[in-house]
Amino acid sequence: MRGPGMRTVPGIGLLAGKIAERIRHMAQARLHVEVLDVSQNALFIIYAACRQCYSSKFAGQIFREEMENPGHQEEFVRQVVSSGHESPLEHVKFTFAIEGVSRALTHQLVRHRVASYSQQSQRYVKESGFDYIIPPSIEADEAMKREYINTMREIQKSYDSLLDALEKKGGKGEGANQDARFVLPQASETKIVVTMNCRELIHFFKERCCSRAQWEIRKLAGEMLRICGEKLPAVFDNAGAKCSALGYCPEGAKFSCGKYPLRINRK
Ligand SMILES: Cc1cc2nc3c(=O)[nH]c(=O)nc-3n(C[C@H](O)[C@H](O)[C@H](O)COP(=O)(O)OP(=O)(O)OC[C@H]3O[C@@H](n4cnc5c(N)ncnc54)[C@H](O)[C@@H]3O)c2cc1C
Repeated sequence: MRGPGMRTVPGIGLLAGKIAERIRHMAQARLHVEVLDVSQNALFIIYAACRQCYSSKFAGQIFREEMENPGHQEEFVRQVVSSGHESPLEHVKFTFAIEGVSRALTHQLVRHRVASYSQQSQRYVKESGFDYIIPPSIEADEAMKREYINTMREIQKSYDSLLDALEKKGGKGEGANQDARFVLPQASETKIVVTMNCRELIHFFKERCCSRAQWEIRKLAGEMLRICGEKLPAVFDNAGAKCSALGYCPEGAKFSCGKYPLRINRK
């Protein structure tokens, strides 16, 4: 998602036509998250999976009976979550479409291995007029912001010039894109589709909603948590940074934000 008023670039008349046109289209991007899908009948699936462990009945039968008698599953699932029996939560998944994030963010995101990812390619998609993320600390300072945006434009010029040179030497499409992209910054905007099951989401929120997490991924995690809480409150009402479940901060005095007391070391 592009930020407002970011398309006007003063002084571009000095630049050559094609490159100037690309630079004109560069813009600051902002976080945008949409949920594409949540497993249907999520509460009933978790309920039937839990019950299967202790019942002589078949989970299919439990599922059908419960669907005809809705109401008490939510409370049951809340108890399962608070008891820490998390494996039944793996049967329910969320798929998110995410844009307006940096490659610096997605590099951290994909470290979460119990998930599926499909990311916009810089080989197949030419980065003509690439958008970028501006860290808030830089955005808040006019001089820094100006320098930052100028750097993005210089990178675009370099990318375009390398791409042109590679194409002149016979590189075509992804063959040229894949090498020109090496000069692109971590700030480059990217788009990614992420699927995580509920157990992994809870783990992700524990790590990435913590104040120790980097600001951009923390913002994304906060938005994903908000959506999960709306869609499936029985599972996500108490999700968040690990301190909220533990009731103390395990990060130590140096890193703690102070919201919760530090863990008392056991002898
Ligand atoms: C504040 C912060 C700072 C960080 N700094 C750095 C850094 O400086 N350098 C760096 O490299 N990374 C860093 N990371 C990333 C971090 O080390 C993890 O790679 C990332 O958070 C993913 O966590 P995970 O492995 O628990 O999650 P996932 O990969 O999603 O795994 C979820 C859980 O599944 C289990 N699991 C998954 N795979 C295995 C396996 N192969 N074997 C056994 N169990 C497994 C584990 O219980 C794991 O917790 C940082 C993360 C945070 C939140």
